[in-house]
Amino acid sequence: MSTVMRSVTGEMVLSRQVFGGLRQTLGDRLLFAGDDGYDESRMIWNGMYYDRRPAAIARCESAADVAAAVDFASDRQIPFSVRGAGHNVAGTALTDGGLMIDLTRMNAIHVDAPARRVKIGPGCDWSKVDVATEPFGLVVPGGIVSTTGVAGYTLGGGFGWLSRQSGFTSDLLLRATVVTADGQIREASLVSEPDLFWAIRGGGGNFGIVTEFEFRALELGPEIAGGLVLWPMERAAEVMDHFAELTATAPPELMHVLVLRVAPPAPFLPESVHGKPVAGIAGFYAGTADEGMAALAPVAQFGEPLANTIKPKPFKEHQAFLDSGQPYGRRYYWKSHYMSDFSLGVKDALLQTATTFTSPFSSVLLPNLRGIPEAPDGPVSAVGFRDASYIVNFQASWTDPAEDETHIAWARANFDAMKPNSMGQYVNFMTEDELADVQRRAYTDDVTDRLRIIKRQYDPDNIFRMNKNIEPA
Ligand SMILES: Cc1cc2nc3c(=O)[nH]c(=O)nc-3n(C[C@H](O)[C@H](O)[C@H](O)COP(=O)(O)OP(=O)(O)OC[C@H]3O[C@@H](n4cnc5c(N)ncnc54)[C@H](O)[C@@H]3O)c2cc1C
Repeated sequence: MSTVMRSVTGEMVLSRQVFGGLRQTLGDRLLFAGDDGYDESRMIWNGMYYDRRPAAIARCESAADVAAAVDFASDRQIPFSVRGAGHNVAGTALTDGGLMIDLTRMNAIHVDAPARRVKIGPGCDWSKVDVATEPFGLVVPGGIVSTTGVAGYTLGGGFGWLSRQSGFTSDLLLRATVVTADGQIREASLVSEPDLFWAIRGGGGNFGIVTEFEFRALELGPEIAGGLVLWPMERAAEVMDHFAELTATAPPELMHVLVLRVAPPAPFLPESVHGKPVAGIAGFYAGTADEGMAALAPVAQFGEPLANTIKPKPFKEHQAFLDSGQPYGRRYYWKSHYMSDFSLGVKDALLQTATTFTSPFSSVLLPNLRGIPEAPDGPVSAVGFRDASYIVNFQASWTDPAEDETHIAWARANFDAMKPNSMGQYVNFMTEDELADVQRRAYTDDVTDRLRIIKRQYDPDNIFRMNKNIEPA
């Protein structure tokens, strides 16, 4: 029987025999089509990629498993992808025809409360971290929803509700265990392999596979204040002016996100607006619930909102309150820009966007990133454009594959209209068709140059390439 076939996407599909040696090492942790767990393993967040079928899936349980899989693939030049929580919009976690290194079972969390340090396995999403740290009054802050994976998120930089106060989440990384292209298991920190440590904080999965993260935790909560206030889209211009004013002067503890979307049939919204476009501001305060309610009053009390969900609540509840709008399995296509300000041109473009939604699930999110501090403990990391003030993300979302073109065109048109305001793009929001352009769009030239030199040192043959790829210098 031939060892090579082609998949529906034209990729090379390797036969089972190719993986005989790896099967001996991993046993039933190496899965093939038809095995229990194979389909579960390849179900990533973006339903656009559900026709991709890895030839084999290495369901790793330890750094040694990961090293064995990397060695095996590297020796035989087998293309492989790496799956954290599988939450990246570009679907890079899922190879079609190669080997998928699945880390979802490496999901241990260890909280050292007295030292305020938290070790996290690369298969975790942030919801599990929030549950583990809450009893100690600690948080390691994740993104704006809780189902995002710790691994891909941190390696691309990672911002969320606390970033204006405490920086990108990767700034809180103290050390990581990394399996590099030569199969070695290395410790990366400010003192051990500092170049590798610099590169994995923003440079993505280009330099190795992280098998454990250790973060500095922050004291917060469990009760904080946060929520979302919505107004009819007819008032979007005033809402945007208010957002611009609030974000120009907000203290670092206070985070605002502008939201444009179609109102869902949610019980907290009047039925008369279900299915109609709405404008909103989501808010969060990194302090006590009382301080937060006071700091968020200018949002809650603005105009006559359709709904106001700002309230005291546990941090983990706030982290999850937007999750239901982004379920696993829908079709998604995103476009984003980092921006230096919220200018009149931005406002006009967004007012135009508000009239053009093609899907009830699509939305525009515009977080305020003003004043994100530099990395606390040393050299700034590889995060691109960390001096940006805002990021705008056009999130197309729909269910019917026959409508792909319409919704993708919506995201692209809005992205194009905002190009004059763009500083660059956030690597973690880039879609599949932008992968060829990552080096130019996601980093400043000096960061790209340094990343390429470090790539040459740690992965000269570019075996970690099914990602937002950096080519060796
Ligand atoms: C609904 C939604 C909301 C989001 N909100 C935010 C937000 O608020 N802030 C923000 O910063 N980002 C946000 N993101 C983007 C998010 O950071 C990325 O999607 C991130 O890649 C998710 O991590 P993951 O581990 O789930 O990724 P996966 O899809 O599992 O992996 C993506 C890529 O990361 C690399 N990778 C994953 N794990 C490892 C590892 N252990 N070692 C080496 N490489 C690895 C691989 O190259 C892989 O292809 C959001 C994404 C979604 C879908």
